[in-house]
Amino acid sequence: MIQAALSIDLESYWHAELLRTKIDRSQYDDRVEQATRPLLTLLARHRVRATFFTVGEVIQAHPALIQDIVAAGHELACHTFTHRPLWELNEALFEEEIVHFNHMVAATVPGIHPRGFRAPTFSLNPDTSWALKVLARHGYTYDSSVFPMKTPLYGVPQAPTAPYYPAEDLVTPRSDGPILEWPMTVWRLGPLTLPVCGGFYLRALPMPLILHGLTRAARQGPIVIYLHPWELDPDTPRIALSPRDRFITYHNLGSPMRRRLERLLKTFDFQPMSDIVASLAG
Ligand SMILES: [Zn+2]
Repeated sequence: MIQAALSIDLESYWHAELLRTKIDRSQYDDRVEQATRPLLTLLARHRVRATFFTVGEVIQAHPALIQDIVAAGHELACHTFTHRPLWELNEALFEEEIVHFNHMVAATVPGIHPRGFRAPTFSLNPDTSWALKVLARHGYTYDSSVFPMKTPLYGVPQAPTAPYYPAEDLVTPRSDGPILEWPMTVWRLGPLTLPVCGGFYLRALPMPLILHGLTRAARQGPIVIYLHPWELDPDTPRIALSPRDRFITYHNLGSPMRRRLERLLKTFDFQPMSDIVASLAG
């Protein structure tokens, strides 16, 4: 049976990398509730429990939403406090982010201890792998930030494609470690690497190719899908961007993305990432 996890990067559209420095937040609503509530209804209808990599600012602004997510049986995980990429931080600043995030969780959903982390913009690479030490110090046991292909913004092209314990270069597997790395799912096809795991790629690539790629990738280990609630929101504000950035950010937003998610929900039997991580360790 295919082991599959659905991960939701719970943030506002204004956290997105191509937008975050271009938008004046005081002029807009964050639309987190409007984008996320329908997603929770959809997941409940399909009886799917997901993993929510959540930005601390979202917990601060929407505590009732976070309480409802936890009450529905979803896993709460960390996506930093402010959604700045790791390459804009250093070890000390990153530690502040994690401490701030953990405090916000403790104040909002007492008794919940996040174990999983995802770096904003998949910004974990050999230059920022100090982040793993910080995560281990603060109770985290797995990370899902390595994107094992080169893209214009991010990627660790030589990294393994199935869960592994990484050395500092993120490429060499070790026999053990404090943090298990669960890389984003790609399909290696000869010299090609196809990102079949979600986000823009899920909106842009043909659905049969995605489904075939995911099934093939699952032969190597558990697969993980990711998406953002704002990708399902037909009313995500359209901010002026370059044609290329506009395409990446807005292509197939709303119902086309929702239909693709529903197809995935019918195809795979998703479990929270921490459940699968525990089964790998056990
Ligand atoms: Zn993000």
